[in-house]
Amino acid sequence: MIRGLLLGILACLVGLVAIVVIRTFTFGGAVGADRIALPETPVIDTDMAAGRLSDVLQIRTITLQAGDPLPGREGPWRELEAYLEASYPAFHQAASKTHIADLTLLYEWQGSNPDLDPILLMAHQDVVPVNIGTEDDWTAPPFAGRIVDGHVYGRGTLDNKASLIAIMEAAEALASTGYQPERTVFIMLGHDEEVSGSGARAGVAYLKDRGLRMEMVLDEGFVVVDPFPLTGTPVGMIGVSEKGYVTIRLTSEAAGGHSSQPPRNSANVQLSRAIVALEENQMPADFSRPPVSEMIQATASDMPFLQRMAFANVWLFRGMLEKEFTKTGAANAIIRTTTAPTMLQGSIKENVLPQKSTALVNFRVHPNDSPDSVLAHVRDVIGDLEGVSADFDETGGISSSASPVSPTDNRAYQVLASVATETGDGAPAAPGLVIGATDARWTVEISDNVYRFAPSVIPIEDLNGFHGTNERISVENVGRLARGYAQIIKAMTSEAR
Ligand SMILES: [Zn+2]
Repeated sequence: MIRGLLLGILACLVGLVAIVVIRTFTFGGAVGADRIALPETPVIDTDMAAGRLSDVLQIRTITLQAGDPLPGREGPWRELEAYLEASYPAFHQAASKTHIADLTLLYEWQGSNPDLDPILLMAHQDVVPVNIGTEDDWTAPPFAGRIVDGHVYGRGTLDNKASLIAIMEAAEALASTGYQPERTVFIMLGHDEEVSGSGARAGVAYLKDRGLRMEMVLDEGFVVVDPFPLTGTPVGMIGVSEKGYVTIRLTSEAAGGHSSQPPRNSANVQLSRAIVALEENQMPADFSRPPVSEMIQATASDMPFLQRMAFANVWLFRGMLEKEFTKTGAANAIIRTTTAPTMLQGSIKENVLPQKSTALVNFRVHPNDSPDSVLAHVRDVIGDLEGVSADFDETGGISSSASPVSPTDNRAYQVLASVATETGDGAPAAPGLVIGATDARWTVEISDNVYRFAPSVIPIEDLNGFHGTNERISVENVGRLARGYAQIIKAMTSEAR
């Protein structure tokens, strides 16, 4: 009797292990349309391109706050425009240029077949400032455009002037060899992406007014990441969606008074409790839906065995996976709406209790949530705390849900995935969720096919350069970018499909 029971349990265990193992070995595989052979492109002089990147890094198109550049401070933007005009004569001959919101540049390279929808490539001219006091931490000064050990250093190399220059290099190389696109090619260079994106937004409105739909929109967001944390190998990440954005203001009200006889549960204490409660009650995690599920599927065969086993058997390992993802900020941001308390305000004097204190909490909204569901979550979590209330705060940015997820079974994704794999020397391409906000978010109004990818192979430690110290890009990557953009333009605009 007992022997029979033990045998039964053993049989169940063996069965379970068999299921787990079989699922592991059958899990994963390429996502999206089959890869294609890419077209030949004109040779682009990488050193010349890097030199031009170095030149434009020295033009200080810095934006600090919405409305920048303030009237009278447009000088650097005008200088950059003149530089582009002088450096890329063949493209300027082939395309027309429209000024949007004064400083955003929209180039239109007319296609030969007006029945085909155009494509839109985007980059931005502006850069974030360098934190005062950190200039000396740089290997080379942030606005000198110096090239040291095969790397161009400077604020704006990765974000986003290397792409800006490389797109222009690609267009110039194609135009100067007489290439005629069948689809119209738009290139939009926004002037204020880092503060409000008003230029790109106006540019999208302009294209929409003309009744145009884009066959593909390509903006910044992802690269071939080396190594991709889940696999330890390079992966060409292609952003097919970006997270939304909402800031919620917590307000805590209580009797104020002299700090010599503080009451219990003063406004600041209650506010702190609210913040801690939000930290301890994170929004729910999910990796069961695209694009995150597809990212996992596309990279599974490159994962270490145990990791692959866990993802192949989420039904069994969900708890463990959630715990692992939650450990690092970047991984956590992919699977849930994140909670970030940023600005706190209480009393204006050290011996006065505030009657009201406030906290701004910035959330980056996962595709499963919305600004409304975030607010409902916050109110639910802080519900029992006396004197504390929550509401939307839109002083720093407009609330938005995550953008729709662009398809992976169309020509645009096929071209981008093929370029990513070639750029990454055979690296798999995977769709991904971009966790920051880009100008691309406005373009969902004029296209279903919005992607965020730059054809370059960026070491993961260099990603700290985004808005940080020692922002740099290798000269080799400047070449990859220019070649990749030329391949993308040509593959998307030759041979009508
Ligand atoms: Zn950027």
